[in-house]
Amino acid sequence: MAEHGSIFEAMLQEFDGAARLLKLEPGIWKILTHPKRQIIVSCPVQMDNGDIEVFTGYRVQYNITLGPAKGGIRYHPDVSLDEVTALAAWMTWKCAVAHIPFGGAKGGIVCDPTRMSKRELEALTRRYVAEIIDAIGPEKDVPAPDVNTNDQIMAWVMDTYSMHVGHTSTAVVTGKPLELGGSLGRREATGRGVMIVTREAARHLGFDIKGAAIAIQGFGNVGSVSADLLARLGAKIVAVTDWKGGTYNAQGLDLGRLLDHAREHATVDGFPGGEPLTNEQLFALEVDVLIPAALENQITMDNAPAVRAKVVTEGANGPTTPDAHKLLHERGIFVIPDILANSGGVTTSYFEWVQDRYGYFWEEDEVNTRLEKKMCEAFDDVLQTSLKYKVDLRTSAYIVAISRVGTVTKMRGMYA
Ligand code: GLU
Repeated sequence: MAEHGSIFEAMLQEFDGAARLLKLEPGIWKILTHPKRQIIVSCPVQMDNGDIEVFTGYRVQYNITLGPAKGGIRYHPDVSLDEVTALAAWMTWKCAVAHIPFGGAKGGIVCDPTRMSKRELEALTRRYVAEIIDAIGPEKDVPAPDVNTNDQIMAWVMDTYSMHVGHTSTAVVTGKPLELGGSLGRREATGRGVMIVTREAARHLGFDIKGAAIAIQGFGNVGSVSADLLARLGAKIVAVTDWKGGTYNAQGLDLGRLLDHAREHATVDGFPGGEPLTNEQLFALEVDVLIPAALENQITMDNAPAVRAKVVTEGANGPTTPDAHKLLHERGIFVIPDILANSGGVTTSYFEWVQDRYGYFWEEDEVNTRLEKKMCEAFDDVLQTSLKYKVDLRTSAYIVAISRVGTVTKMRGMYA
């Protein structure tokens, strides 16, 4: 990642382009380009072999103007303060584009969860939560899953926080198991949102999603659910790559069998229903839609000239570098930016938080219907703004977000 420079700098470049068009006041500009709070903690954990390891954890609350800070926690060896700060800023703009009453935050721990036992992961999670306990809470900051974290980890977050405050607090975290106050539809929500905006883009551009060829990088929670739901609309998922390898079938991969294979082997690599495929080959495929649903900095100046998709739907956060994005846009590729495309997850996190606070839970249909409405509204807001300002969708999504957060910042006024 280092060869592409600071991720926070990339976020600032995107921000500046939109702020200039909006003629944003310099004071508001300064406020919105500084993180409100950055917390760094050391988390000692006794490993299974008896040794003590100390893990570095971060929680960044970028902006809390619209409501409690909101955003996931990721476990990855490459986590850094720069990355977590950029991701927390993106959460701020994402919640604003989704029009939900949250600010933006992100957490991360530098670790390799694939080499840790369940007991070690539990100990690390609980210690991390204890270290940031004063900063989180249903009205302060509400974590959620992200890269390499899941509902079990959120259950430990909920339990640790509840033990500290002395009562069960379900609304402190989202993406929990259903039994603990989770929401129906939350696990699938990011992928469902990706499916909805891809379908809307196809409608806008005038091609049929039924029969459209789709290539997906990443087969985790976002990539696999997007693939499944788009296949249900009749799209052909022709290629998938993941951390280990990839698979390609021009006739369309058999999703049911691919999901079984991935469950059994923890990778799509070696799938008997397709030919092997690298990431480089995936990005260069002549498809209708390309969905990067893995990590940051995947579409760069090295591979952007080779991209031949009509639409790029950013399932991941920050998968395209600013230069590469400019090139894709100039080449007429319709990029649905991350802060819109993957906002289905946090939108349904909002629904989960609302249900927890009410103590009243909705049927899955109600969750999905509300998500459908929110995603279509957000897509339309961003599309109309892009037509009005004659800009790409990323710039227009920032325009929507900065206007909303900026207006409230101004109305609330300055303290002291
Ligand atoms: N980690 C997800 C994201 O990047 C979800 C965050 C949330 O639900 O708070 O949007």
